[in-house]
Amino acid sequence: MIPVSAALDHLFALADPLPLETVPLRAAAGRVLGETVSAQRTQPPFAASSMDGYALKGVEADLHAQFKVVGESAAGHRWEGTLRAGQAVRIFTGAPVPDGADKVVIQEDVTRSGDMISITDDPGPKDNIRPAGVDFEQGTPLEAPRRLSPGDIALLASMNIANVPVRRAPVVALISTGDELVVPGEAPGPDQIIASNTYGLAAMLEKVGAVPRILPIARDTVGSLQTVFGLTRGADLIVTIGGASVGDHDLVARVAEDLGMDQSFYKVAMRPGKPLMAGRLNGIPMVGLPGNPVSAMVCGAVFLTPMLNAMLGLGRAPAPRISMPLRGGLSANGPREHYMRARITDGMVEDAGAQDSSLLSVLAQSNALIVRPPHDPAQDEGAQVEVLLLT
Ligand code: AMP
Ligand code: MG
Repeated sequence: MIPVSAALDHLFALADPLPLETVPLRAAAGRVLGETVSAQRTQPPFAASSMDGYALKGVEADLHAQFKVVGESAAGHRWEGTLRAGQAVRIFTGAPVPDGADKVVIQEDVTRSGDMISITDDPGPKDNIRPAGVDFEQGTPLEAPRRLSPGDIALLASMNIANVPVRRAPVVALISTGDELVVPGEAPGPDQIIASNTYGLAAMLEKVGAVPRILPIARDTVGSLQTVFGLTRGADLIVTIGGASVGDHDLVARVAEDLGMDQSFYKVAMRPGKPLMAGRLNGIPMVGLPGNPVSAMVCGAVFLTPMLNAMLGLGRAPAPRISMPLRGGLSANGPREHYMRARITDGMVEDAGAQDSSLLSVLAQSNALIVRPPHDPAQDEGAQVEVLLLT
């Protein structure tokens, strides 16, 4: 049995960053920028008005001063001339500020009569002009790696970057194993249950930017497992669920070994999730998760998510933790690191009740895991505890 941190190191050693690909901007949201890109242009490309009003010379903008309106500058249609003393140009938001003007007096501060305006309210010191390049200059970088947010997409668009270099999304083959399992929507036999893990994990991994492929359920026979392993070609990561313990029907390790798996470890000192294994199968990293639904999901958050982030080029870091005061108490922990299902409310975290690793109803009510170190003594209300957020 190895500690969680050592298991993570082994997993990171299996998780090399994937190659880059170029996708159209519309497909880039949520993807990881793989290469630093730089603005193709300056924004705004010209000094632009930030208001509707009149462009004129700031030194002349006194209360009651009068100007002759000599033209109009609208967004997309500049006024080509050069403004002289005593002149103003009607201007709208986003329009180029004419040469010779250095202030826009907002229309609310002006009274117009024919082609004459007079300033009837104090225009104040603001020039209402966005200088050229105030947002970014041509060549301004957006640094990789970076998971692209909606705001980033808008920025890339503004930079005129229509095609974006991103990490290829990791394809994850998800394999449920067990004679007792049927897929959701199917009619289970009297001794059967519905496979839940692959669905929960697929949802979790999709959020990180992976492309999960739920393969057919492998039955508890060597032949069935071999067949389903045969469907993993092209995957960047193979994840099996269940069949990882040492029971008579736990065949995953045996079959994977027969197929040539190079095992990096088996068993981690954690609760839930002890029977975790990993290695490389035909060159593809493989992780064998325990079958109990909460164990599988906890291992997904603790191991698979950081592993996928590493494959996406985001670096090798464990799932982030924060420190938070405890509501209610906790009894002493045993020798294994414990990931307790928990709920954060009003800035405090409380264990979510029964910690049996089969209870999906408890997991669904949880938004966090309290991480207890091995042999952590009993904790009282208000103690600071380590928390991993479930999103
Ligand atoms: P195993 O590791 O195969 O012994 O499975 C441990 C427990 O998890 C058993 O109660 C299984 O029925 C259950 N289990 C295994 N795989 C899944 C799955 N994909 N979905 C739901 N429960 C599962
Ligand atoms: Mg099983």
